[in-house]
Amino acid sequence: MRKLASVRFITDVKDHPNADKLAIYKVDGWNVIDGIGKYKKGDMVIYCEIDSFLPIKPDFEFLRKSSFKKMGIYEGFRLKTIRLRGILSQGLLMPIDVLPSDKKYKKGEDVTDILGIMKYERPLPANLNGEVYGDFPSFIVKTDEERVQNMDYTDLKTQKYTVTEKLDGSSCTYYFHEGHFGVCSRNLELLESDKNTLWSVAKKNNIPNKLESVGKSIAIQGEMIGLGIQRNIYKLNNNDFRVFKIFDIREGKYFNIDEMVQLCKQLELTTVPVLDRSFSLPMSVDDLLIYAESHSSLSEVSREGVVLYSNELQNVHFKVISNKFLHK
Ligand code: AMP
Ligand code: MN
Repeated sequence: MRKLASVRFITDVKDHPNADKLAIYKVDGWNVIDGIGKYKKGDMVIYCEIDSFLPIKPDFEFLRKSSFKKMGIYEGFRLKTIRLRGILSQGLLMPIDVLPSDKKYKKGEDVTDILGIMKYERPLPANLNGEVYGDFPSFIVKTDEERVQNMDYTDLKTQKYTVTEKLDGSSCTYYFHEGHFGVCSRNLELLESDKNTLWSVAKKNNIPNKLESVGKSIAIQGEMIGLGIQRNIYKLNNNDFRVFKIFDIREGKYFNIDEMVQLCKQLELTTVPVLDRSFSLPMSVDDLLIYAESHSSLSEVSREGVVLYSNELQNVHFKVISNKFLHK
């Protein structure tokens, strides 16, 4: 699970250009608009990022009008990007005393569970979820990416990156392990079914045989896009599986980008668009967010964003989502 709520410090406070009663609070890479005078630079606060799903509690009732949502059997409040008087605001600040006072909190501490917060995920339609075979296999890592706003940007800047386009579809994992071919959506393994898009794409593209032919336990992870998926922003009239990660199950590690591209070529699978192999980060997070706002390389639409992979450190990768896209 990613940290959705954590202990942070207000890094800067600015006046809102269009509203006397509001201020723009900066917390690391994030901007949050709230009432003026509520916090000052250096204050310890709780920051909840966008996609937090807050439980129904008196503390959060003020969100009901704007943010009430159902997620499966749960009801709660979903935080998303909003624009207040023309300025983007992302996430929610709360005073530190909302937390139980029986202990001391430190910078970066994860308070997601203490506050009962979950990650908001749009329920998957039947063509993507279908009947469940079981939990997501414990020997494969679920797909997820941290947001650049939560990372130490100065530290990130010392490296070069491979930039891939972030596609707006649904996570899909195909694997072959101990004679078994498995198909997984983001959080579950799915029973074989012709009504399920992930399964039908696998069969149509001969993916079970292709994975078996590799001769070792392997998981191929990518984004399923096209017909019937999200809003199909690329306006495809079929489905397309675009690989972004390959995991060697026995070794417990990922292929690097070159190995991934190579194996995809061999298996006749397509990767997500690779946009740059030696990218240097611009001055600030804000500049990088603007870079993310370009057009998609699949069709004439704005892209969702980019996912960057460090060329030096395999465990350094993160997403940069276009604010233009988020706000739509
Ligand atoms: P989000 O869609 O905001 O939950 O971000 C994480 C998800 O982005 C991953 O779980 C993938 O399903 C998806 N994704 C789309 N394109 C890429 C890419 N190029 N690299 C990695 N993940 C991607
Ligand atoms: Mn997504």
